[in-house]
Amino acid sequence: MLRLYNTLTRRKEPFAPVEPGRAGIYSCGPTVYRDVHIGNLRTYLLADWLRRLLEARGYRVKHVKNITDVGHMRQELLERGEDKVIAAALRAGKTPREIAQQYTESFLRDEAALNIEPAHIFPHATEHIERMIALTQRLMERGLAYEVSGNVYFAVERFPEYGKLSGNTGASLLEGVRSEVDPGKRDPRDFALWKAAEPGRTVKWPSPWGDGFPGWHIECSAMSTFHLGERFDIHTGGVDNVFPHHEGEIAQSEGAFGHQVVGYWMHGQHLLVDGVKMAKSTGNVYTLPDLQSRGFEPLDFRYLCATVHYRHRLNFTFASLRAASVALSRLRQEAFLVAESEERDGGSGEEWEAAFWGALEDDLHLPRAMAVVWGLVRSETPAGAKARLLRAFDQVLGLDLFAPAAEVLGSVRAMADERQELRTRSGFAKSDALRERIAAAGFQVRDTRNGPAVAPRLPPPPIQADALHSSREVPSRMEEPDEVGFSLILVGRDDLPALRRCAEAVLRHAGDHEIELIVVDNGSSDGTAEWLRDLAARDGRVRALRCDHNLGTGAARNCGLKQARGCYVVLLDSSIELTGDALSPLARALEDASTGIAGAFGVNSRDLREFEDAPGPEVDAVEGYLMAFRRDGVREVGLMDEKFRFYRHLDLDYSFAFREAGYRNGVVPGLPLRRHAHSDWERTPEEERERLSKRNFYRFLKKHGHRSDLLLANATRP
Ligand code: AMP
Ligand code: ZN
Repeated sequence: MLRLYNTLTRRKEPFAPVEPGRAGIYSCGPTVYRDVHIGNLRTYLLADWLRRLLEARGYRVKHVKNITDVGHMRQELLERGEDKVIAAALRAGKTPREIAQQYTESFLRDEAALNIEPAHIFPHATEHIERMIALTQRLMERGLAYEVSGNVYFAVERFPEYGKLSGNTGASLLEGVRSEVDPGKRDPRDFALWKAAEPGRTVKWPSPWGDGFPGWHIECSAMSTFHLGERFDIHTGGVDNVFPHHEGEIAQSEGAFGHQVVGYWMHGQHLLVDGVKMAKSTGNVYTLPDLQSRGFEPLDFRYLCATVHYRHRLNFTFASLRAASVALSRLRQEAFLVAESEERDGGSGEEWEAAFWGALEDDLHLPRAMAVVWGLVRSETPAGAKARLLRAFDQVLGLDLFAPAAEVLGSVRAMADERQELRTRSGFAKSDALRERIAAAGFQVRDTRNGPAVAPRLPPPPIQADALHSSREVPSRMEEPDEVGFSLILVGRDDLPALRRCAEAVLRHAGDHEIELIVVDNGSSDGTAEWLRDLAARDGRVRALRCDHNLGTGAARNCGLKQARGCYVVLLDSSIELTGDALSPLARALEDASTGIAGAFGVNSRDLREFEDAPGPEVDAVEGYLMAFRRDGVREVGLMDEKFRFYRHLDLDYSFAFREAGYRNGVVPGLPLRRHAHSDWERTPEEERERLSKRNFYRFLKKHGHRSDLLLANATRP
C-alpha cells in the first residue's frame, strides 16, 4: 500500500485518491526568466519519481506542471536585483515573451535530458489570466478579498485556517511576511491577488479593477483547479514553496470553493552545494549544462538524487556526483551482462521485487530501493530474472540501465565480429581502428575463453577527477619544517590575463630568493587550468592546485596556506604586479617578532565600522592585495575563515586575528609594485557587491566588534 508524507498533516498517510485508480498531480514549475538550477531539478525529479511509481502501480496519472511567465517574475526580480538580466536581454532586442520562451525551452531540454517524463499539461500563467481574474472576483464576492486603488488583496483575517500548512501563525507569521511597504494592505499578512500596472508597464491585462497583472500565488490556484478540478490528489514543490506560496494557494482555493482542494502536499527538501544554500551571490549555482561541461552525464545527477530521500537535504559535491557516475556505469555494466546472458530461466526473484516496491511505497524511499537494486545485482538470482526485474525497476528509476546496450549493440557486434576476422587474418592495424570505433560507441571488446565479448566500457573519469572540491581535501604541511624562504600564494578564477601577469612578475622578480609559487585555480573554466599545468611543467618553483568549482576566497587561500612550506608566506591578489624585489623588504619587516602581518596597503578605523586608507608604518589592518606573515604565525592564529567566500573584509578579519594574538600589523613603504583592476570587484554587479560586502561586514563585526581596544586610535602609548 502506498503511503505518502503529507506536509499538511505532518505524517505519512495511505494514499487514497479522489477517484479510484486515478491520480492528479500538480507541480509548481519554473519561473522562466533564468536557467533552472540543479536544486530546481531535484524538486522536479521528486515529482517524476512519484508519477512513475503511481503509473507502475497501475494508476492513470494526469500530471500538470505550470510555467510561471508572469507575476512571480516581477517579485523575484525586484527581490534579487536581477532585473538587469532582463533589461540586458531587452536591450539585445528581446521581449519578455521571448525571454520566457527561451528559458521554457532550456527547462524542457534539461527535463528531457534527465529522463523526466513531460507533464501532460504545461499551463502558462499568461494563458490563464481570465481564470485568475474569475477566481479573484469570486473571492471578493465571498468577502475574502478587497480592492484598494486597482490592487486586490486577500484578507487573511477572513480565512481562519490560514497557517495550517506551514504552521506560521501569530507572531511567527508576521516575521515570515516579507518586509514590503504596501500602504494599501489592511493587514500586513494580506497578499496581492491582482496588482495595478505601474505607468510604463507593457506586460499587463485588463480587469474589472483596471489594467494590471496577477499575483504569484493566484496563478497556481487558478491553473491547478482548472486542469485538475476542484478536488485533486497531490501537489508538489520545494520546501521554500510551503510559505508563503502554498499557504496562500490553500487560502485562495479553499476560500473560493469552500472545501479542501488538495489531498496531499509533498515538499522536497533543498539541494545544498558544499553545505550552503545555492545562490548567485555565493557563486555556487549549477545548471545541468554546468555539470555536463565538467564531463558528467545528466543521468549521473539523477542517480545522485536517488541516493538521498527527498525529505532530506542533499548536499551536492562534485565528489558525490563522481561517485554516482561510477556507480551508474557499474550498474549499467551489470545490466548489460545479465541481458546478454544465455541463462533465460529459473528463479522469480520475488523477494527482491517485494522489497523494491515496498521501499518506494514507503513515501518514495529511493535510497532503500537502490540498495535493493544492488542487492539483487550481487545476489545469486539467475540472470534471466535479474534482467527482467531490472527492466521493470528502471521503468520507475529512469536511469537508462539498458538503453546504450539496446541501441548500439547490433552494430557493435558486427564490428566486433569483423575485428575478430581481421585479427585471424592478421590485419592488426585495421582491427585496432575498429577497436577505436567500438570504444567511441561506448563499448569494449574483451577476449574471453569463448572468443571476444562486447561489454559497455566504464566511462572515462570525469575531466576534473583530480581537482579539489573542498579545502579539507588538501593535506596540511603546516607542521613540516620550512623548505624554502617564501611561499607566494595566488588565487585565480576566470581571469587568466590577470593571473598570468601576476604570476609571471613574481617569477621574474624573485631574484636569488628561494621561493615556491602556489597558484590556486579556483574553479576557472577559461583555460587557466591548461596554462597553469604548462607553467608548473616549465618552472620547478610553481605548484598548481586546482579546485573543481569556486570554493570561495577564504577556502581557496587556505588551500595554498595548508600547502605552504616557506618561512614567510605572501598572499597576493592577481591585481598586483611586482616590479622589483619586494621580498627582501618584506622579510626585513617580518624579522621583527612583534609584527604579525606586513603588507603594501593598510587601513585604520576609529570604530571598527569605517576603515580608511592609512600610510602606516603601523596600521590596524593590512589589505588583501598583498599580505605577508611568518608561517609560524599561521600555526598560531589558524587558517582563514572560510565563511568569507567573497573577498571583502577577509583581510580585516585575518588582520584582527593577528591583532588579537598580540601582534602589530604594518605597511612596508615603497614596495615595488603596480596595482591593476581587481577582478572580483570589477565583475560583481553593484547590488551584489553591496549585499556581499554587507554580509561580510556583519560577520566581521560579530567577531571583532567588541575589540575597539585594539585599534590604534584608542591605543594609550607612552
Ligand atoms: P522557482 O523557479 O524559484 O519558483 O523554483 C522552482 C521549484 O524549485 C520550486 O518548487 C522550488 O521550491 C524549487 N527549488 C528552489 N530552490 C531549490 C533548491 N535549492 N533545492 C531544491 N528545490 C528548489
Ligand atoms: Zn506554484
